Amino acid sequence: MTAKPVIAIDVDDVLAQHAESFVEYSNQKWGTSLTVDDYDEHWAKVWQVDIAEALRRRDEFVNSKVHDNFIAHTDSDTALKLLAESFELRIVTSRLLSMKEGTLEWIEQAYPGVFSEDRIHFAGIWDKLESHSHAMTKTDVLKQIGASYLIDDQLKHCYAASEAGVQAILFGDYGWNQASSLPKDITRCRDWAAILEYFHDK
Ligand SMILES: [Mg+2]
Repeated sequence: MTAKPVIAIDVDDVLAQHAESFVEYSNQKWGTSLTVDDYDEHWAKVWQVDIAEALRRRDEFVNSKVHDNFIAHTDSDTALKLLAESFELRIVTSRLLSMKEGTLEWIEQAYPGVFSEDRIHFAGIWDKLESHSHAMTKTDVLKQIGASYLIDDQLKHCYAASEAGVQAILFGDYGWNQASSLPKDITRCRDWAAILEYFHDK
């Protein structure tokens, strides 16, 4: 039997509705009036605060456990079950390692039996800000696991993946992932129904 091609899947804003919770938490906690369109992964910029304050807020947000209650994206569960028939599904996230336990629990609760723990990878990109841990880029992880595809909402990860020969699916049509044009090996899929369509003839 030949091995199934590997699809690497991001968590935040691909599987989990993260920006919605981030914005709601920020507005409640720090009196901002953000909408999902204001979201950007550079939180200091979104909050218009310095790095030290951004890190303090980040820790508060991360420790608040709101991540445990993230809502899964529409149709992601049924789509994953279908894709799992023909592909090996793996998670590649840049969430902090301190969030590992909660992330594993959320994934198992949202998609029971779809991802075993050894198929959930933490790149540790943001951890390097404060430690000397072995931080890898997502592309390092993609190479290590032999991924053929990446599904991610961040343009930079899609660009890096495509440069490494991985077919990239840019997820969603978000304020933070607009581009005037995309290289031919990066395909935007607005939702999970579009992803199923993309993989239909693969
Ligand atoms: Mg993401």
